[in-house]
Amino acid sequence: MPEGSTSYRCPNCNRPIQEEDVFCSLECEKEWLTREASKSQTEGILFCPKCGDAELKMAIPGLITIWKCPKCGYRGSLAVKDGVMREKISEEYEKEREEPPGG
Ligand SMILES: [Zn+2]
Ligand SMILES: [Zn+2]
Repeated sequence: MPEGSTSYRCPNCNRPIQEEDVFCSLECEKEWLTREASKSQTEGILFCPKCGDAELKMAIPGLITIWKCPKCGYRGSLAVKDGVMREKISEEYEKEREEPPGG
Protein backbone atom coordinates (compact mmCIF):
# COMPACT_ATOMS: atom_id res chain seq x y z
CA MET A 1 0.00 0.00 0.00
CA PRO A 2 1.54 3.35 -0.99
CA GLU A 3 2.00 5.74 1.89
CA GLY A 4 1.33 9.47 1.95
CA SER A 5 -1.05 9.31 -0.97
CA THR A 6 -3.63 12.05 -1.25
CA SER A 7 -7.23 11.40 -0.34
CA TYR A 8 -8.96 14.01 -2.46
CA ARG A 9 -12.19 13.03 -4.07
CA CYS A 10 -14.15 14.25 -7.04
CA PRO A 11 -17.06 16.43 -5.75
CA ASN A 12 -19.36 14.92 -8.35
CA CYS A 13 -18.75 11.17 -8.35
CA ASN A 14 -16.60 10.80 -5.23
CA ARG A 15 -13.83 8.98 -7.11
CA PRO A 16 -10.30 9.42 -5.72
CA ILE A 17 -8.34 12.13 -7.53
CA GLN A 18 -4.79 13.48 -7.46
CA GLU A 19 -5.37 17.19 -6.84
CA GLU A 20 -7.56 19.30 -4.65
CA ASP A 21 -10.48 21.37 -6.02
CA VAL A 22 -10.67 19.54 -9.32
CA PHE A 23 -12.91 16.94 -10.89
CA CYS A 24 -11.90 13.51 -12.17
CA SER A 25 -13.11 14.40 -15.66
CA LEU A 26 -14.55 17.27 -17.66
CA GLU A 27 -17.93 15.53 -17.76
CA CYS A 28 -17.97 15.46 -13.97
CA GLU A 29 -17.20 19.16 -13.80
CA LYS A 30 -20.02 19.97 -16.24
CA GLU A 31 -22.48 17.75 -14.42
CA TRP A 32 -21.67 19.28 -11.06
CA LEU A 33 -21.91 22.86 -12.33
CA THR A 34 -25.27 22.16 -13.99
CA ARG A 35 -26.62 20.68 -10.77
CA GLU A 36 -25.44 23.61 -8.65
CA ALA A 37 -26.95 26.09 -11.11
CA SER A 38 -30.37 24.44 -11.03
CA LYS A 39 -30.20 24.28 -7.23
CA SER A 40 -29.69 28.04 -6.86
CA GLN A 41 -32.54 28.62 -9.29
CA THR A 42 -35.12 26.75 -7.21
CA GLU A 43 -33.87 28.36 -4.00
CA GLY A 44 -34.59 31.80 -5.40
CA ILE A 45 -38.28 31.21 -6.10
CA LEU A 46 -40.64 33.87 -4.80
CA PHE A 47 -44.10 33.14 -3.45
CA CYS A 48 -47.29 35.17 -3.21
CA PRO A 49 -47.77 36.45 0.40
CA LYS A 50 -51.55 36.09 0.09
CA CYS A 51 -52.15 32.61 -1.33
CA GLY A 52 -48.63 31.15 -1.48
CA ASP A 53 -48.65 30.65 -5.22
CA ALA A 54 -45.29 30.50 -6.96
CA GLU A 55 -46.51 32.00 -10.21
CA LEU A 56 -45.70 35.57 -9.21
CA LYS A 57 -45.15 37.80 -12.20
CA MET A 58 -43.18 41.01 -12.27
CA ALA A 59 -45.84 43.65 -12.96
CA ILE A 60 -43.63 46.73 -12.81
CA PRO A 61 -39.91 46.03 -13.00
CA GLY A 62 -37.74 48.79 -11.64
CA LEU A 63 -36.34 50.22 -8.43
CA ILE A 64 -39.31 48.86 -6.47
CA THR A 65 -40.55 45.68 -8.09
CA ILE A 66 -44.30 45.19 -8.04
CA TRP A 67 -45.38 41.56 -8.06
CA LYS A 68 -48.62 40.28 -9.49
CA CYS A 69 -50.26 36.95 -8.65
CA PRO A 70 -52.46 35.44 -11.39
CA LYS A 71 -54.13 33.11 -8.89
CA CYS A 72 -55.58 35.48 -6.28
CA GLY A 73 -54.99 38.83 -7.92
CA TYR A 74 -52.51 40.03 -5.30
CA ARG A 75 -50.46 43.04 -6.32
CA GLY A 76 -47.69 44.55 -4.28
CA SER A 77 -44.00 44.85 -3.57
CA LEU A 78 -43.98 42.04 -0.99
CA ALA A 79 -42.99 38.52 -1.99
CA VAL A 80 -42.21 35.52 0.20
CA LYS A 81 -39.02 33.58 -0.38
CA ASP A 82 -39.34 31.05 2.45
CA GLY A 83 -40.74 27.63 1.56
CA VAL A 84 -42.04 26.91 5.09
CA MET A 85 -43.82 30.25 5.32
CA ARG A 86 -45.26 29.66 1.90
CA GLU A 87 -46.89 26.40 3.01
CA LYS A 88 -48.51 28.15 5.99
CA ILE A 89 -49.89 30.94 3.82
CA SER A 90 -51.27 28.42 1.37
CA GLU A 91 -52.99 26.43 4.14
CA GLU A 92 -54.67 29.51 5.58
CA TYR A 93 -55.76 30.68 2.17
CA GLU A 94 -57.44 27.35 1.41
CA LYS A 95 -59.17 27.41 4.82
CA GLU A 96 -60.57 30.88 4.18
CA ARG A 97 -61.93 29.81 0.83
CA GLU A 98 -63.71 26.82 2.32
CA GLU A 99 -65.72 29.01 4.71
CA PRO A 100 -69.20 29.89 3.42
CA PRO A 101 -69.65 33.46 2.15
CA GLY A 102 -71.86 36.02 3.81
CA GLY A 103 -72.46 36.24 7.52
ZN1 LIG B 1 -15.96 12.54 -11.01
ZN1 LIG C 1 -51.70 34.87 -4.82
